[in-house]
Amino acid sequence: MTSIPDDVIEQVRDAADLVEVIGEHVQLRRTGTDYRGACPFHGGKHRNFAVIPKKQMFYCFVCHEGGDVFTFYMKKFGMDYPTAVREVARRVGVTIPERTASGPDPLEPFYQAVAVAQEWYARQLREAPEAESARRYVASRGLDLAQLHPYGLGYAPPGPAFLDAMQKLGITPDVLIGAGLALRREDQTLRARFWGRLLFPIHDLRGRVVAFGGRVIGDGEPKYLNSPDSEVFHKGRLLYNLHSAKHAIRKAEHALLVEGYFDVLRLLLAGLDHVVAPLGTGFTPEQALLLKKLTERVTLLFDSDMAGLRATFRTGDELLRARVSVSVATMPEGEDPDTLVRRGGLAALEKVLRDGVDVFERKLQLLERKGWLGTLSGRRRALDRLLPTLRAAADPVTRDLYIARVGEALGVTREAVLREIADRPGAPPFRSGAARPAEAAPLAAPRVRSASGPERDLIRVMLRDPDARRRIAELLPDRDLLREPDASLFEAVLQLGSEVPPAGLLESLAPEPRVLLAALLDEDWGPPDLGAVVAGAVDRLESRRLERRMHEVDRRMPFANSDEQMALAQEKDTLSRKMSQLNPARWNVIRKGRTGAG
Ligand SMILES: [Zn+2]
Repeated sequence: MTSIPDDVIEQVRDAADLVEVIGEHVQLRRTGTDYRGACPFHGGKHRNFAVIPKKQMFYCFVCHEGGDVFTFYMKKFGMDYPTAVREVARRVGVTIPERTASGPDPLEPFYQAVAVAQEWYARQLREAPEAESARRYVASRGLDLAQLHPYGLGYAPPGPAFLDAMQKLGITPDVLIGAGLALRREDQTLRARFWGRLLFPIHDLRGRVVAFGGRVIGDGEPKYLNSPDSEVFHKGRLLYNLHSAKHAIRKAEHALLVEGYFDVLRLLLAGLDHVVAPLGTGFTPEQALLLKKLTERVTLLFDSDMAGLRATFRTGDELLRARVSVSVATMPEGEDPDTLVRRGGLAALEKVLRDGVDVFERKLQLLERKGWLGTLSGRRRALDRLLPTLRAAADPVTRDLYIARVGEALGVTREAVLREIADRPGAPPFRSGAARPAEAAPLAAPRVRSASGPERDLIRVMLRDPDARRRIAELLPDRDLLREPDASLFEAVLQLGSEVPPAGLLESLAPEPRVLLAALLDEDWGPPDLGAVVAGAVDRLESRRLERRMHEVDRRMPFANSDEQMALAQEKDTLSRKMSQLNPARWNVIRKGRTGAG
């Protein structure tokens, strides 16, 4: 870290007008030689906060926060000491000579550029006529621009104004590009990164602005655009507002994680300091570790719509992996933190937070509400849904509690749960019926198909003998057993008129069944007994059906009560008897017959 000479620090302190600096953030009124205002640190309403120019210090008579201009920046903006000195120096126009063992910090110009840009953008938002729509947008979110002042929001106008301003301030194109503020077009001209966007400054842990999150004003895509990775910004390794929330999080031993920039600002204005948000992208393992360094407890306060719930559980799993304990606060229907605080104030929000439940418990609640815990197949699906979170829980005590809870809620033994956890993550291996409910687990990867599958034999026969098509279809009670792409081709051939040559299908089929059809038409195949081929294929499909059913019974067994277990055991018995009755030796005869064609 660069060290700043003491005499320069003195010079900066002297040059800064404390009343002016603090006056930007606190409404001050002169009382004798001092200035008084409401304390920005403990959030009081009375004028207990004093700025004493003679002593170059501020002091609160209630919460006893106090210090000089640098302390004010550190406390107010979460900056560390050197950053605060640099920030004040920049504002008062004092140049700090860089003096380190390895020479000046090569990244300093980029930090400077982002800081200068932030100030320029903020001024546009406050003053520029063309920022009117942005100001109206902020107001439409129920936020007061004057109150937001400390958070440094800005507006990036469309057009060349930003680049012109930066050029006048002596910031070179290379630095602008390196700082993520501009990019080069294909014709080598420079273009500002942000156009027509409301900007939220993103700070690093030392409190330096390193990037922006930009919300489009009016129509346009994408709705949110962040600075790219740059010399000073690395996506996924910071959280919005963490620089200023970190002390509050340590003090509260608790962090509040919300979805968006506006949610953070709303909660800050409502008086909660320990609040952060991801940077408009998915929550990362690095972000989980950042929070873990500060606290063991995080409450997630996301929207309760489908997207919000998905984000909640993904984020929850990430935090569990970092051994953070996670609870979920649930907004009343149709509300987000923003609207809730606007309507009911801090008290409404604090109630929601108090009512937060553990993330695993919340997941169970939702599954129960879907009615999944009432049936065998539902309990099976519920366990599939809970497994990712069980696996994510890296803390052994937490995991044990979760396992016990699953046992209780789903009626499964601890051993069965442990076995499931140990199984590699994967979805149920079988297709289950025609219409798969949207909330069911994703399909497993397709199995490896053998070229001699029973459906292929059936199609071979159907291609050569139009009269056999309908009969074969009648032999198959469950066409869902057929695998793709054979299933598609099977259906197409079945619908084909007997007088139409099968090659006529080639044009209308999807690529995979088309390739299959071409191959089958190209085959030189003519077994002695088509009937035997069909019988063999049907037996193999029936055997496939029995295997599936057997597997399903095995999967249900751990959830069954003793009555159900008895019934399932009987079914297994029946299934295995049927399987043994299907004579596998017959298949071999048929396989030989087929290949011996001439
Ligand atoms: Zn105070």
